Amino acid sequence: MKKRVFLFNEGEPDKDILGGKGANLAIMTQQGIAVPPGFTITTNTCMDYLKNNDYPEGTWGQVLESLSDVEKNLGKKFGAKENPLLVSVRSGARISMPGMMDTVLNVGLNKEIVEALSKLTGNPRFVKDAYRRLIQMFADVVCELDHAEFSGRLDSLKEEVGVQMDNELTNEHLDLLIERYLEVFERLHGKPFPQDPIEQLDLAVRAVFQSWNTRRAVDYRNYEGIPHDIGTAVNVQAMAYGNFDDNSGTGVLFTRSPAIGEREMYGEFLINAQGEDVVAGIRTPQPIIALKDKWPEIYDEILQLVEKLENHYKDMQDVEFTIEQGRLFILQTRTGKRTGVAASYIAHAMANEGLITKKDAVMRITPKDIEESLFPSVLWKDKKREIFYDVMDVNEQLADKSLVDITHDAETKDAYLIGKGLPAGPGACSGHIVFNSDLAEQIFKGEIEPDFEVSKFSMRDGKKVPSLILVKKETSPEDFHGMVASLGILTMAGGMTSHAALVGRQIGKRVIVGAAASGITLVNGVLSNKDGKSYKEGDLISMEIFEEGKIYAGELPIVIPRELPSSLETILDWADEIAEMTVRANADKENDTQQAIDYKTTGTGLARTEHQFFDALPVMREMILADNDEARNSAIDKMGVLQKEDFVKLFTIGDGRPITIRLLDPPLHEFLPSELELTKELLTQELTDSERTEKEKILLQVLIYQEANPMLGLRGVRLGLMIPKLLEMQTRAILEAAIEVRETGKEVRPEIMVPLIATQAEFAEARKVIDKTAKQVFADKGKSVDYQVGTMIEIPRAALTADEIAAGELGADFFSFGTNDLHQMALGFSRDDVAKFLPFYLETGILDADPFATIDQSGTGKLMEMTVELGRKAAAESGKYLKISICGEQGGDPESIDYCYRIGLDVVSCSPFRIPIARLSAAQATVRNGPVDPKYGKKVNA
Ligand code: PEP
Ligand code: MG
Repeated sequence: MKKRVFLFNEGEPDKDILGGKGANLAIMTQQGIAVPPGFTITTNTCMDYLKNNDYPEGTWGQVLESLSDVEKNLGKKFGAKENPLLVSVRSGARISMPGMMDTVLNVGLNKEIVEALSKLTGNPRFVKDAYRRLIQMFADVVCELDHAEFSGRLDSLKEEVGVQMDNELTNEHLDLLIERYLEVFERLHGKPFPQDPIEQLDLAVRAVFQSWNTRRAVDYRNYEGIPHDIGTAVNVQAMAYGNFDDNSGTGVLFTRSPAIGEREMYGEFLINAQGEDVVAGIRTPQPIIALKDKWPEIYDEILQLVEKLENHYKDMQDVEFTIEQGRLFILQTRTGKRTGVAASYIAHAMANEGLITKKDAVMRITPKDIEESLFPSVLWKDKKREIFYDVMDVNEQLADKSLVDITHDAETKDAYLIGKGLPAGPGACSGHIVFNSDLAEQIFKGEIEPDFEVSKFSMRDGKKVPSLILVKKETSPEDFHGMVASLGILTMAGGMTSHAALVGRQIGKRVIVGAAASGITLVNGVLSNKDGKSYKEGDLISMEIFEEGKIYAGELPIVIPRELPSSLETILDWADEIAEMTVRANADKENDTQQAIDYKTTGTGLARTEHQFFDALPVMREMILADNDEARNSAIDKMGVLQKEDFVKLFTIGDGRPITIRLLDPPLHEFLPSELELTKELLTQELTDSERTEKEKILLQVLIYQEANPMLGLRGVRLGLMIPKLLEMQTRAILEAAIEVRETGKEVRPEIMVPLIATQAEFAEARKVIDKTAKQVFADKGKSVDYQVGTMIEIPRAALTADEIAAGELGADFFSFGTNDLHQMALGFSRDDVAKFLPFYLETGILDADPFATIDQSGTGKLMEMTVELGRKAAAESGKYLKISICGEQGGDPESIDYCYRIGLDVVSCSPFRIPIARLSAAQATVRNGPVDPKYGKKVNA
């Protein structure tokens, strides 16, 4: 006869036959894990049952046989008054269909057994509650009676006796409820509730089979593309009760610390209680270690269980267990949630223990885990995470391990969400609002007493400093010092590649941009939200920026990692061994270059030379505002001195790493004061004649250089072609610096990058000036260095003519995708005002993702793929390999990095704080996609 029923401890745990849940129960049982015993009726039996609306031959006999096996195992008897066995009857198809099919619990109870069991347990309340639940579920699932009739009875009883919660009902109340349930049952069903436990089981199994074809199950399968002919298994399993007596209990445990990952079991339990009691938090549970004294044998059993579970699942598990009359049962095990710090600790430890491979460890960490280990995050105390944090006493643990600081461990102080924006710089912070960059700097440096009381401080370089959040409509280079002084930056306008986003992220700030889209406004020094709540300078706000940028009024408890955990460092080293692409940094100054090197960058992929003037605005202004050649040349000479100093530092710190220096690509107006401010000053301030003339002169220039969105005007190579002296100055500064640093014994690898070109002629023209200047420098110095000249690919036309730009003598030595501008121009979305409509586009699904954060693969990506194909082919024809990188903001985004790998890029470059994530993502891309076919020549050392 065909075998249709399998005990959990027999046969192959085959999902096709036993369904997902049945196979899992079988696996656990066969691993020696103490799950409550039971059996599974196969999925095929379901399909056969549905054909004839009856059990295929032999099925029921096998069910009874297996039931008797379970009885023997537990020393209980189904339907008996002494030590009765109760079971659950659950569905479980090969593919999970959560909530779509039926379940009946507590099968096996009737009036007599309720009485017997009440006596046996001395806990009639629990038994009666189980009975009334059985009647209610049975009515609903098996007999399809109107469930509102039952829940209505429960509600009206609670009202009658004046209680709010189900668990406040007394014994007598439950008796009354059961009586009423049985009455309705009989009235609606035409027959009384079956008192024969075997009949209950029979009807429950049939109901689960039939639930395969309920409307919702069929619709769900159609929607998910699940076949209709695979059927569901039925799992019949002994119920285990932790509230049976004082020799029973229930608990939860993590096989390792979910807070920091240590190999030490964490958890808690309650004696004589059900799982719900642990979660409800009415009684205070005891730490798991207390089991050792209370029930030492069970404690040992749990230790062995942890070992078994981890050996089998090869990951940290979160386990629910029940002890019934001194016997341990595992009700559920699943992969445990953990902090980012714990994630790398566990993966690293498991690789060292030989449980998983190094590659597994690399694949197991997520970018979010790294963000949590790198950046401050909010220590939420919401219900869902409470078990996680409170139970583990995370404060103490973390403080002990010197991994983090908790700046404020109280409950959130009236913090509530006031709005959202784009998540430009990850992490979390709380601080006082400041609307002005000069003020922020003065408060930060302690130069003035602000009008408000500073109550929130943070540590910076070992010093206690006021915590500030700079709030502006948008930022410009004029705000740089204010951004440095602040912990966080919040802007109303701007997208993911706006000034605030790009610069803030690069210097490691928490940044939210484009908050105006959520109804936040900044008018006359007052920040308001759409509910009319308003905040002034000095008020405390908080920001949490991971997948979304959330703005809160008030203060939040923040956890601050102190350093990159060493386990994560090791996993990232393993990642580097796997990765095929290298990761460089977008770093302009020595401190961000150093930060990037600390995070093990292989070089600099983009040093934006205009950023080097952020703290030297006057010379830049002098150059822009010069009204004759002489004045301009003198300003350029001054710039050259500063540039060379900067480059010497970069090459010195770079210590032989390649450094791509991009020639000036300045949105010039960003370096000038705002038109509005100047006009205001001219209209309202008392000025001397010469001051007035000066201001009017500046205003005129401001108007000339002002650019409307998208700002293009004199950007990119155009400025250098119009004023070749700038190209010469920068080339000279770079190469002289390189020669000088090489003299000190260090290797140098300068890569000069021409910004924003549209045509081959532009590039060739710039290259001629650069090469000519290089010759002169080498002649002047009597020494030369190797250098490369490449270009950014940022304008669609450059992508379309990549072959021309890469070909021949004057061809580019390398390309780097400026995907910020490339997306701006391919999509026609201005980088600086995209936030006006982007949130709407994302909400309505017009766009799947923010293209300034994640590459638009199907659109802009075509330009990138074409560039790779055309550029590499043309270079190969000239006997060269064209190195291609990305240095737009998408270069630090995991999904975009995966794409860059697939289309054959050599390098991704991103802001220093994203380097760890990029290193991980580069390795994961290699594992995920396998090798990429090198079409035109072999990759060079990139
Ligand atoms: C780009 O456009 O992607 C880029 C890196 O240059 P910038 O952001 O400086 O315009
Ligand atoms: Mg650009």
